[in-house]
Amino acid sequence: MPILPYFEDVPCGINDGSAKASLREKISTLQENLVRIPSGSPDDVIDTFLDSYKELRSNGYDVSPNSALACLFDLLVSAKYAERLVSDDGWTYCAGHDIDEGPSLYFSYLKTCPRCSVSKGIKPKVDSNKPKSGNIGDISEDSNYQIFRHMISSISSDVKIGKDSRTRSDIDVVIYNDERLILGETKSSPLVLYPLEIQLDRRLTEVSNGESVEKTDHTPATKDVMSNEIYMFVPHRDERISLGSANSGNWPYGGINDYIDEPLNIKFLIDAWNELYDVYKSNPYADEDLRRYILCGNGASLDDSSTSIDDSKNKPGMDRTDDIKKGTYQSLKYGTYFKEKSENRKISAVISTNMFPLRTYKRYLAEMVKVVWTKEEYSQNVNINLDDSDIRAFKKSDLFYLYDAIIGLSESIYMDKDIKSLVSIDEYMSQ
Ligand SMILES: [Zn+2]
Repeated sequence: MPILPYFEDVPCGINDGSAKASLREKISTLQENLVRIPSGSPDDVIDTFLDSYKELRSNGYDVSPNSALACLFDLLVSAKYAERLVSDDGWTYCAGHDIDEGPSLYFSYLKTCPRCSVSKGIKPKVDSNKPKSGNIGDISEDSNYQIFRHMISSISSDVKIGKDSRTRSDIDVVIYNDERLILGETKSSPLVLYPLEIQLDRRLTEVSNGESVEKTDHTPATKDVMSNEIYMFVPHRDERISLGSANSGNWPYGGINDYIDEPLNIKFLIDAWNELYDVYKSNPYADEDLRRYILCGNGASLDDSSTSIDDSKNKPGMDRTDDIKKGTYQSLKYGTYFKEKSENRKISAVISTNMFPLRTYKRYLAEMVKVVWTKEEYSQNVNINLDDSDIRAFKKSDLFYLYDAIIGLSESIYMDKDIKSLVSIDEYMSQ
């Protein structure tokens, strides 16, 4: 396959005479498969959100950039789900009896009513509109990359980002400039997906035993999404973002942009997201905090193990042990198959995610982040009189970090400071 002109300058690749032929061959295969990160309406959401965020900060609000970016990620993924999935079918009728509110329809991505579960702990089983993970993995990954692209292009105009177009590829993403090629494994998954709502002006009816009666609560419903006002619903704060009907231009991004154009709305969204982050952090599986019912990957209900509200495989970010295990192997593989083969040490290995692991960090990662490895063959003879034969010497350039960085939107770890200067939030915020 021909290499896109944009990616002709990847270090150690086809046009880099300083790289060994065997490495150049591997990188040129990667180059052939690199594609640009999709552009479009989601980028406008990112721009608007971060402009408002910066305005908020300049007005004296001390809101952490990590929370802002991780919150933006969930908003972006929710918007893309709405754009891709919204249909006349797939809605759930919620009469509002139990919560003393008016009737509404919900288009949910988890398997319970977003309103009744969060406000009263009532967890009716409803149909989820979330497709199988394989179909939607790209949505999360691209959202992560689009946010990275916004950051790195603000930091420096010579840094590029691309992703491997092969579905089963070792390398998910590359970020590079002339000096450095970062190979990344990506694990992205939202903490919360905001459902859609259509508010009804009366309770619906259905036919039962030859009579028209009130429609059974929490049953499937159909509604014309082209002629009804749709909202994005933030259940734990009872807030609604008006999106218009699904045939309004640039739906749902136009409505979201109007909302986030107001800095105080951004503050509201970030506070609301932080509240859920704290719930997640405090082990929602062990207590009955009702807000856990809108968290992705919350697994089985405590009182009814047959009612899984969302598969625990959908835990946010890279917070599954499997994510950490695979990410660690990939990082070591990038190290041994690429980084080590680059004589001028231009290559780095990172894991990228929207949410840094919280629940698995201590048990699976904390003791590994400082790991440095090398190989026997790099051992050097040194001219110092060491009696201790247990001491062996290695050049600094022949020692490799297991992870050069774990780049998360909510939190990051940088072992290699060069990477920090290319993609970090600190660097982005200092621009
Ligand atoms: Zn309900």
